[in-house]
Amino acid sequence: MANAQPLPPSLWAATAAPAPPTPPLTGERTADVAVIGGGFTGLSAALHLAEQGADTVLLEAAEPGWGASGRNGGQVIPGLKEDPWQIKERFGQDTAEAMVRSSGAAADLVFRLIERHDIDCEARQSGWIQAAHTAAQLPLLRRRHDFWLVRGAGAGWLERDELAALVGDDRYHGGWIDRRGGGLQPLSYARGLARAAQTAGAAVHGQSPVLKLSRQNGGWRLATPDGAVEARQVVIGTNGYTDHLWPGLAESVVPVFSVQVATRPLGENVRKSLLPGGEVLSDTHRVLWYFRQDAQGRLVMGGGGSAYEKGAEKIYGSLQQRVRDLLSQVPEVEFEYAWNGLVAMTTDHYPHLHELAPGLWAGLGYNGRGVAMATMMGRILADRALGTEAPEHDFPSLPVRPLPLHFLRGIAVTAMRAYYRFRDALDR
Ligand SMILES: Cc1cc2nc3c(=O)[nH]c(=O)nc-3n(C[C@H](O)[C@H](O)[C@H](O)COP(=O)(O)OP(=O)(O)OC[C@H]3O[C@@H](n4cnc5c(N)ncnc54)[C@H](O)[C@@H]3O)c2cc1C
Repeated sequence: MANAQPLPPSLWAATAAPAPPTPPLTGERTADVAVIGGGFTGLSAALHLAEQGADTVLLEAAEPGWGASGRNGGQVIPGLKEDPWQIKERFGQDTAEAMVRSSGAAADLVFRLIERHDIDCEARQSGWIQAAHTAAQLPLLRRRHDFWLVRGAGAGWLERDELAALVGDDRYHGGWIDRRGGGLQPLSYARGLARAAQTAGAAVHGQSPVLKLSRQNGGWRLATPDGAVEARQVVIGTNGYTDHLWPGLAESVVPVFSVQVATRPLGENVRKSLLPGGEVLSDTHRVLWYFRQDAQGRLVMGGGGSAYEKGAEKIYGSLQQRVRDLLSQVPEVEFEYAWNGLVAMTTDHYPHLHELAPGLWAGLGYNGRGVAMATMMGRILADRALGTEAPEHDFPSLPVRPLPLHFLRGIAVTAMRAYYRFRDALDR
């Protein structure tokens, strides 16, 4: 990720609130904490660091929100992919409790930050629906619903006819709504976080790729094309765009190009029949579909991915076909945007927090659920860097485990996707 690139075209790039000025770093300076990467992880870290009085510098290779944070579906989903009882089995009661609590609170954190910093990003905490694509999924969704209901998530069960009334289509067998979730314009949110971090006192530099990270005077030195920062602590938030600044980190995750398409604004009648309350939805397919309306009434849908950008572009057509299936009452669905971006997948399906070396922190691997969780991870990383961990918002540090045969990841992702599509087809 050494070379800065322009913001790629997307619905969000076309409709975002203006970006704050983020001039490149020039010359040498010192800081308490340097943050690498201007997505939700890095921006949230910078904001929470600066709010705690740390002298903070954020270095972003392109501009805030350039990565997945400015290109995603804008679905704010609380919790992790793995269920609380699976987390307990793997990590034990106490650690699991902290993980469930922090990931469960992640969506609320997003909406409270937006409120507190007056971020203009079309945010609505209108609920996240998880819909069962087969009747066999219903018991698992019921168990999830029951778990979160007693945890105060405002969970609600949706019978098949209730869900059909919300989606305007009876393809789903039922599901549940988690009212902590919702939607937002992700690039506007990223830009708003950058502005909030600046207001809190952080220096945010765009067009400033970190080319070299080395130990210096008991701390760290970060070199960019026109400058350098010396800092006691460093936070890395580069997720799917992780490069080779730290050995083994890029090889510990699988980068996958994830895909989005958006229609032109839909007619009034269709808008009223499709998630009219601003709810966002994802389903239980292995290659899942997720969709919502944006603030102008476009249907925005995501689903599928590829290890290669060209492969991601080939998925646009099949995703558009899914939109046409869903909008079968609309004679001619017109599309306005299609785009993609890189997410970091972990093979254990958990986000990874690492203390790579004394004073060097990293958080990545949100497995496509990073709008809420990356924001929470940024806060946790800020606390770790300053030694101010809050027990109610913590996450375990894990060792970095480079994946064996990482160079074969393209073949593995392609094979896995084909297998999942086959299993989904069998379900139908
Ligand atoms: C198409 C798509 C749809 C998605 N939909 C959803 C969704 O609806 N809901 C959800 O929860 N999640 C979704 N996600 C996932 C979510 O967007 C990510 O998990 C999240 O944005 C990750 O944030 P991040 O800050 O960790 O990484 P990123 O936003 O990717 O930011 C990393 C940044 O690091 C910078 N960088 C890299 N190397 C360097 C360097 N050496 N020096 C300086 N800067 C560097 C990059 O330029 C980049 O801006 C989606 C992702 C994609 C791509």
